[in-house]
Amino acid sequence: MILTLRSRLTAVCFINTKNSTRQIVPRSLRTISLLNFFKKEPLNQKPQPTLNQDNLFHPFSKSPFPAIIARGEAIKSLASCPVCASHHDHTHAHTKAQPRAIAFQCPDCGWPTHCTEEHWLADNDHAKYCSRLREVNEDEHDLRSGRRLREFELPGPQDTESAISFSNWDVFWYTRNYPSMDTERSRRHASKLLTYPITIGSVIHQYSPLTLGNQRLTPEGSRSLAALRSTLHGTTGTPETEEASIDKPQMRIFILGARAESSLPPHVWEQLTLLFPAALFHLYFIGPQVSLPKPPATPTSDPISGTATQSTSVSPSSQVEASESKSESPLSAKSEEEEPVYLPNVYEPPTPAPIARHKRTRSSIERYGVPSYTIPYTPQLTITGMRCNYHEVHAQFQDTFDPYTDLFFVFSPGFGFPSPTSISDVTGEPLLQIESSTEWGPVLPLLLATKCPVFVTGFSPTDVERDVTSLSIAPGVAGEFDWVITPGENAFGSEKWEVADFDPRVMVKANWGIWGIRGKRRDVREVWESNII
Ligand SMILES: [Zn+2]
Ligand SMILES: [Zn+2]
Repeated sequence: MILTLRSRLTAVCFINTKNSTRQIVPRSLRTISLLNFFKKEPLNQKPQPTLNQDNLFHPFSKSPFPAIIARGEAIKSLASCPVCASHHDHTHAHTKAQPRAIAFQCPDCGWPTHCTEEHWLADNDHAKYCSRLREVNEDEHDLRSGRRLREFELPGPQDTESAISFSNWDVFWYTRNYPSMDTERSRRHASKLLTYPITIGSVIHQYSPLTLGNQRLTPEGSRSLAALRSTLHGTTGTPETEEASIDKPQMRIFILGARAESSLPPHVWEQLTLLFPAALFHLYFIGPQVSLPKPPATPTSDPISGTATQSTSVSPSSQVEASESKSESPLSAKSEEEEPVYLPNVYEPPTPAPIARHKRTRSSIERYGVPSYTIPYTPQLTITGMRCNYHEVHAQFQDTFDPYTDLFFVFSPGFGFPSPTSISDVTGEPLLQIESSTEWGPVLPLLLATKCPVFVTGFSPTDVERDVTSLSIAPGVAGEFDWVITPGENAFGSEKWEVADFDPRVMVKANWGIWGIRGKRRDVREVWESNII
C-alpha cells in the first residue's frame, strides 16, 4: 500500500516541476478580494466605475479601482526584480548590490514585475508567467466591473428526483442547477467561491469521485466514510428529506486553522448542507486567524471583541502585522471605510476582516472560553467560529467524538513548512510546523486519537508532497495513522491562480490536492505484541 501511495505521489509531483518556481511558498495564498464582494457597500462610498467585457485589462497603476492600485504598490514594496536576483545569486554577495525593488510594469500583463524596462527585456522567463498574470489582472477587473455576476447566484434546495454528480465542476454545476458557467472566467470565479464547501461535500457524499475503484479511497477509508454516510444519507431507500433529519444526530465538521474559509458568507456554506437534505450540520471554524463578527451596533461591552486574543501567526512582514492587528481590533472598527484597501498576502495570509453580523449571531465565549460566536443559520446549518489554537479547546469535545458524526478538515495547513517560531534543540534548525509545539505539533495526535477522519488539502503538488512527507517524522503521527484518501488531485479545487505579492512568479490554486488519514485501529494481536516488548 505504501509503495503504491509513494509512486502515486511521485507521479503527481513530477507534473509539477514546471510550476514550482521556488521552495519558499507562502503557507497558503488565499486572497480575500473575492469575499469582499459579499460585503455591504459603505453608504458614503463613491459609485464604482463600470467596465465593459472588452475593457478589462488595465496596468495596475492605471486601474480604475483603488484596491488594484494598492495591490500594485504592495508588490512594489515586497517583491524584488528577478533579473537582479539571478545576477545576485551567481556572484559573491559582497561584490554585488542587493536586488533592486520593482518599479516597472510589464505592458502585456500589467503587473509590476522588474526594476527597469531593461531588465524586463532581458528576462526570457517572464513569458512563462505573463499570460497567467494577464488572466488574473482581467479577472480582478471583471469582479469589480459592475456586471451582474451570475456565477455567484447560488441555487436553492435540490430537486429530490435528480441526483448530483461529483465527477468535476461542470457536471456538478449542471446537476445542481447552477447558472450555466459560459466562460472560463466564470468558472474561475465560481470555483474559487465554492471550493471550500464543495470539496467537503464531494469527499463525504455517497457519490464522491474518490472511490475504491480509482484507488483514491482505501479499504480503511471506505469504513470511515460508510460510518459518516449512514448519518448523512440515512438507510438506503429512505427519502432524503428535511423530515427525515428530525431525529438525526448533527454532523460536526471541525475546520481547523481556518482563515478565509471562516469569512465565507453563511449562504455559501449552506451550499454544502443542500447536498444532504436529510442531514443536520454544525460547522466549527477553529484557529488563531478565524474571522469574528463585527461588534454589535451599540458599542457596549461585547464579550467577543472585548477579549480578542492576539493571533499566533508570525509574519515576517510588518505590513501584514499592521493589517492583522487592524483587523483584530473590532472594538475600534467603526466602519468599513477604515479597512485597508488591500491586505498583502505575504508568507502568512492576513486574518480576514471581521465578518458581517447576522441577526441570529450570538457570542459563545461563555460556552467555549475563547473569543467565539455561533450562528444558527438555518434549521439544517449552525456555524460556530472560535479564535484560538485547537488544542486549547480540544478537551471540551474530547469525550464526545464519534466516527459516525464527526470529521476534521484542514485546508492548506503547511504541516511541512518550517515553523517561524520553534527551533530544534538538536540541530538548531527551525522545526517543521507538524512537530512544532507552537503550530500543529500538539494537534495531530489529538485528532488521531479520536479515530475520526482528518482530511487535508494542499495548494500544489509540491505542497501536498511536503505535507505528506512531514507525517513520517512527526512524533505521535508517524506510524499512528491509516490512509483514508490517498494523496492526489481534488476535482473541486479552485481554478483561479492566486499570485504571491512577494514574488508574482509564485502562483498556486487553493485546494489543488486532497488526502485523508485517521488514527490507526490496532487489532488485539498488535496490542498484545506491543505490551510484551
Ligand atoms: Zn533588475
Ligand atoms: Zn507580463
